[in-house]
Amino acid sequence: MSSGSTCAVVGCFNNSKKIKNFLETECFDHKVRRRDCPCSVPYQLHSMPESRCLEWLAALKLKHPPKKVYVCSHHFVDKRPTDDNPNPELYLGYDRPAVKKRRTIVRVEALVTS
Ligand SMILES: [Zn+2]
Ligand SMILES: [Zn+2]
Repeated sequence: MSSGSTCAVVGCFNNSKKIKNFLETECFDHKVRRRDCPCSVPYQLHSMPESRCLEWLAALKLKHPPKKVYVCSHHFVDKRPTDDNPNPELYLGYDRPAVKKRRTIVRVEALVTS
């Protein structure tokens, strides 16, 4: 993992440095550094796959996306990109897309009645 990568989601400041610091602390359960411990880290940074570029950027609503886009585990339904949920969907820092959908429906109805 390269240093200095931060989650690209608006309002989320999870980054690789925090994970590194976390791994240097001691695990309460196992009495070893978390680096040497079987416990999982609270989140990981996932780099944007080339093939999902459009979906991810649409989900993140980034006006000026960085060269390398990372999204942390918190924004994935399965805590990481999977076949079922490959795109970031949770806690994306803006209102739920449902509101937008409703507005579109209203507009369509208005067109039908006029
Ligand atoms: Zn542990
Ligand atoms: Zn994040």
